Amino acid sequence: MNKKDYYEVLGVSKTASDDEIKSAFRKLAKKYHPDLNKEAGAEEKFKEVQEAYAVLSDSNKRKQYDQFGHAAFQGGADGQGGFSGFDFSNFGVDLDDILGNMFGGGFGFSSGSSRRKSNKIQGDDVLYHMNLTFEEAIFGTEKDVKLDTTISCPDCDGLGGHGEETCEICHGSGTITKEQRTILGSFLSKTTCSNCSGTGKTFRSRCQTCNGKGRIKKNRTITVKIPSGIDNGMRLRVAGKGEAGLNGGPAGDLYIEFNISNHDFFEREGDDIYLTVPITITDAILGTKKDIRTIDSVVTLNVKPGTNTGDKQRIKGKGIKNASTGRCGDMYLIFEIVLPDKISREQKDLFERLARTNLENTTFAKFTKFVNKK
Ligand SMILES: [Zn+2]
Ligand SMILES: [Zn+2]
Repeated sequence: MNKKDYYEVLGVSKTASDDEIKSAFRKLAKKYHPDLNKEAGAEEKFKEVQEAYAVLSDSNKRKQYDQFGHAAFQGGADGQGGFSGFDFSNFGVDLDDILGNMFGGGFGFSSGSSRRKSNKIQGDDVLYHMNLTFEEAIFGTEKDVKLDTTISCPDCDGLGGHGEETCEICHGSGTITKEQRTILGSFLSKTTCSNCSGTGKTFRSRCQTCNGKGRIKKNRTITVKIPSGIDNGMRLRVAGKGEAGLNGGPAGDLYIEFNISNHDFFEREGDDIYLTVPITITDAILGTKKDIRTIDSVVTLNVKPGTNTGDKQRIKGKGIKNASTGRCGDMYLIFEIVLPDKISREQKDLFERLARTNLENTTFAKFTKFVNKK
């Protein structure tokens, strides 16, 4: 089929601005709208104008068209063979806008911002709360998720019926335009066709399985792979596992929100792990070597002589592998000097001998000076 150049159809130059395209379209749409123009060929012309505008008013489509011409859209988004089966609802042009503008008047033109009009409705998203242990969150796991949602009816492919036909009442447009005569003149009003609920299509027989709804409620269990590095409150999106869509629309998404239980020893801050390490008073003074568990190994730690409560030591790269960046956090050890619960006679003797030596440092000296100040 030999198609006319879209710029020619709208009568604008290839460098026309969005506003120029919009106003050219408005003029032509009014001129050829089948409700207003009953001349032969007007409807064809109107469709041509619509089609050209649908492409040129969308910056992405316009770019594609500039580059590839009509070939950019051959095959069509819905497999309808390009624009031969042109469907307004798929190209972001809201007929209501044009009609509203023409018949209602004074509301301005808002096709750019308006939602595309389509009877295909995406299903709702579903939120699922999942508990994970500390380890599951860090290393990832696989979990079964029990869902009690709707799925697309398998017997009618979500359409609600068998034997699709064009609606007799609206002739497939999904809307009905009525002329109302009043003392002020006649007005055209547009309503959604009740016979087909605006889909433009009816069925020879209603689907028994879903009672015409196109979807059925079903319990199902899906297995979800949970990546490593999950943190509290994070949400994982599982595409297409939400509620089924309507009128053949796609399903919504499933979102899993995580609640992670605390670990007895490890504490987590983002991708970093904190571990409080108790040391005895002699370890603190003399220093020692200590085996420490990280989240996935055991390392031997050198506790330096003179280590105090609150002193920190970093073990690089022994934190959590970030789910999105793949980089590992660090592990921090916080030392805490703990006193013995009870001491033996011999230990007491040793401490008494120790007490008779001078264990003071500069802090003591400063404090003594402060107390004795008059
Ligand atoms: Zn209808
Ligand atoms: Zn069905």
